[in-house]
Amino acid sequence: MSGGDRFPARREWVVATANPGKLREIRAILADAPLTLLALDAFPVVRFPPEGDDYAENAMAKARAVASATGRAAVADDSGLEVAGLGGEPGPRSARYGGPGLDDAGRVRALLAAMAELDAEGRRARFVCVAALATPEGELLTARGECAGRILAAPRGAGGFGYDPVFEAEGLGRAMAELSEAEKHRISHRGRAFRALWERAASAADYLRRSIGT
Ligand code: IMP
Repeated sequence: MSGGDRFPARREWVVATANPGKLREIRAILADAPLTLLALDAFPVVRFPPEGDDYAENAMAKARAVASATGRAAVADDSGLEVAGLGGEPGPRSARYGGPGLDDAGRVRALLAAMAELDAEGRRARFVCVAALATPEGELLTARGECAGRILAAPRGAGGFGYDPVFEAEGLGRAMAELSEAEKHRISHRGRAFRALWERAASAADYLRRSIGT
């Protein structure tokens, strides 16, 4: 196929993340797509650019860095938790919330401490994810997904990662960490963003095939 060297038609994507929780989720979300997802650890160490305060910029920068270092199409995401009563914090800084040296449980504790005085309105929250696909030639696609909910008073459940034990998606009555993986991916910000990204890549590939006439 003559479009084979352009991104939409590529069937191997390197997943540009060092976070094993994200890699597992992205593989599960895209399990039905005709794609081979390669882990970053199959390649020499790639230096990620420093993160800023914009999900799309961060996701594109990670995807671009890995695409140019590996010479392959690369997919990345940037995500975060936004709490209404904290003015949208921690947002794109969610992975670093509470200062250096904290693990997921420590960040959850820091978040709950910061929210101690918040009422139900202030506890409204959403997860946001922007997924980006880049090629070494500089082509780019992005897609955004959101999941609305609220922050619970205390952690519940053992699934997922990050803030999942304290996030209840709207109408579910259970913490994200109490859902099966399939339940989480159906409604999650990451599930929505990566399904939309795949649809965009697939329809771009159809367009390319039609315009090339193959
Ligand atoms: P980054 O996208 O690598 O900057 O990291 C985003 C951070 O947001 C993660 O380290 C988690 O703390 C949090 N986060 C993003 N997505 C999720 C999720 O699906 N569940 C729980 N926490 C998440």
